[in-house]
Amino acid sequence: MNETIAALATPPGRGAIAIVRCSGPEARAIAARVFRSREPLRDRAAVYGEILDLDGAVIDRGLALAMDAPRTATGEDVVELHVHGSPVVARETLRALFRAGARPAQPGEFTRRAFLNGKLDLSAAEAVADMIDAETRAGARAAAANLAGALRDAVGGARAGLGAILEELAGSIDYPDEVPEPPRSGVAATVAAIDGQLAELERDWERGRLVREGMALAIVGPPNAGKSSLLNGLLGEERAIVSEIAGTTRDVIEERVVVDGVAVRIVDTAGLRASDDRLERIGIGRAEQALAGAALALVVVDGSRPLDDDARAILERTRARPRIVLFNKADLGRAAFETRDVRDADALSGSAHAAETVAAVRAAIGAAALGGEAPDPGRPHLASARQAAAVARGRDALAQARATLDRGDPLDLVAPDLVAAVAALGEITGAAATEAILDGVFARFCIGK
Ligand code: GDP
Ligand code: ZN
Repeated sequence: MNETIAALATPPGRGAIAIVRCSGPEARAIAARVFRSREPLRDRAAVYGEILDLDGAVIDRGLALAMDAPRTATGEDVVELHVHGSPVVARETLRALFRAGARPAQPGEFTRRAFLNGKLDLSAAEAVADMIDAETRAGARAAAANLAGALRDAVGGARAGLGAILEELAGSIDYPDEVPEPPRSGVAATVAAIDGQLAELERDWERGRLVREGMALAIVGPPNAGKSSLLNGLLGEERAIVSEIAGTTRDVIEERVVVDGVAVRIVDTAGLRASDDRLERIGIGRAEQALAGAALALVVVDGSRPLDDDARAILERTRARPRIVLFNKADLGRAAFETRDVRDADALSGSAHAAETVAAVRAAIGAAALGGEAPDPGRPHLASARQAAAVARGRDALAQARATLDRGDPLDLVAPDLVAAVAALGEITGAAATEAILDGVFARFCIGK
């Protein structure tokens, strides 16, 4: 932390501007060696001037923005140089800073310094990475909540509750004559309440899989029903192979679209029907798998003709699961839709080639994806497997403590388990984080963050 680090903060490649960031005790002195301006650098003021190579040649003209410790992102002195967005200019500017005494930053090192200087806790640091990686609005909003401290406060509250019990226990152990033991029922109630809050975080973590990983949706239906056409409509481009020969989509195609802020992984499958063709049978086997792994089935049948056996079979097979049914090719007639015995409220009639049908299917997918299941992204939530594992270990320790209480063992025997729970939860915010935990967290950051 005594060293001053520098890195490109904007994405590599061309852009309007590139920002090179420098942080550490020597940031001002190093910047002064590469930046020449009429006015001196001042805290939080953008100053226009020349960026110089150490031999005095002008690399570019741009802005220097100095920010004095401790009111900065890293908690250290920071200087940003805003130059023209050319990879060459950015590289030369960075090289000048290195020659002037800065060293290249490691991945996540700026954020790591922010954490070590108490600017943010570990759950907020992870939220920074999540926000940068977010693919969807819901994902970005969830990251914003943890960045604002939602998880830190929830975990901090749980630790404080357990800590208060430990303090009372410690008092009665140290001064058994003066300090009475806390009431067993009170301890049990507090532990149960805290465990309940942690259980809720775990449940949200499971449900949050939708926001994190997206929802798996399988498009199924008889060959030639219009599955690939519908997928292309949803993607807004010609991606899957559309053909008039039944059974063309032999393999499984996976694509991602964002519907109502939820990433949807759509699997287009070969038609589900009995087949003698070996290659087609392989495709059908994968279709069965895709259907098994999907949270939602999008069933497409040709609605212009009376339902045939293949169509009836697939409607029967998906009856018991979440699905959307599209009676397709309505432009050619609506024989099946009129005579159907499908009672789904979500049965749609239309054409995969028509924008309004695609919009209706999108809306149905959005409603199914968010139908009560998606956790509110504004709530505190676990955002990584690391955090979920820490909560699981904390709950294991609390389960031990509760068993001790239930058995009627001496009250002070719960202390070690409560200590273990406090430590496990402390890993989430970094209050009890080892060097190895920090390395793991910051390894997923990019350089310059
Ligand atoms: P898949 O085998 O279920 O994937 O079906 P495709 O998407 O490959 O479509 C099979 C044939 O039906 C192609 O010729 C499409 O152009 C045609 N098709 C798909 N949807 C419609 C529709 O809504 N109306 C009409 N008239 N033809 C369609
Ligand atoms: Zn197809």
